[in-house]
Amino acid sequence: MSERKKRLPDWLKRRLGAGQTFNHTHHTLDTLGLETICTNANCPNRGECWSRGTATVLILGNICTRNCKFCSVGHGKPLPPDPTEPKRVAQMAKEMELKYLVITSVDRDDLVDGGAGHFRTCIQQCRQVVPELAFELLVPDFRDCQGKAIEILTDVRPFVFGHNVETVSSLYSKARPGGVYERSLELLKKAKDAWPDTQTKSSVMLGLGETEGEVMQVMQDLRAVGCDRIALGQYLKPSKESLDVTEYITPEKFDWWADQARQMGFSWVQSSPFTRSSYHAEEKVNIKSAVSLHRNFKKVQKMQRKK
Ligand code: SF4
Repeated sequence: MSERKKRLPDWLKRRLGAGQTFNHTHHTLDTLGLETICTNANCPNRGECWSRGTATVLILGNICTRNCKFCSVGHGKPLPPDPTEPKRVAQMAKEMELKYLVITSVDRDDLVDGGAGHFRTCIQQCRQVVPELAFELLVPDFRDCQGKAIEILTDVRPFVFGHNVETVSSLYSKARPGGVYERSLELLKKAKDAWPDTQTKSSVMLGLGETEGEVMQVMQDLRAVGCDRIALGQYLKPSKESLDVTEYITPEKFDWWADQARQMGFSWVQSSPFTRSSYHAEEKVNIKSAVSLHRNFKKVQKMQRKK
């Protein structure tokens, strides 16, 4: 059945955002000239998240070097990283009085470090302005520079290191032509090996034509590389050029997936039609211990240097 003929189920109807906090989020991002994945990916949760005073900042521009078929972010030749951006991100964290910040970026295959250095600078600047801030990074697959990127980010170790496998292996050529399923798993493994205390996280979209067995396989593969957190959500066509939805998964089925994920050992699970990787990312996070993770690491680093 074509997308146009398929009616959106009632559980997928969402209200637009409004209210004081929504306006404050909007105004802050606008004034500071920051991009978000919320707007660039036409996320259906923008009303809710911005009204709660959270947003996922998109660094390194809004032009991606890949051309994934499920994503509405523009692609082409990106601009060089903006050296003023880290300061603006820090200012945003301050003005929005954030305790938890998710930072993501477009793919930057044009940069030798895939953009890892810019992620690091953003975190460093934020920590100077808002010391009690916990970070979650949602990064690209760092195609040719995974080792280098991990090394760069070691200095600023985030509480959560996320990289989305997005879909099942068999749909990569159709949905994620620039990606390689095993490479994505490899990045999560490298991060877990390098920083066992950091939570690793991944997301899967359902409704792109995957089978139940394939989703099970993805979850097993993620657990096999030590992935701690998983988010499962309904794929929604973000632009008319994007892939069609093949199926709307019911909320009950998402609950079932959540049970499966917990049984497999994921310690943090979000599974619902509107789940996106950064949706309620701060939920059940003890900010104090998330912040002290980095501080303890810095202390150990210092002691090791003195020896
Ligand atoms: S789920 Fe993530 S991307 Fe979507 S609006 Fe919320 S913070 Fe933004």
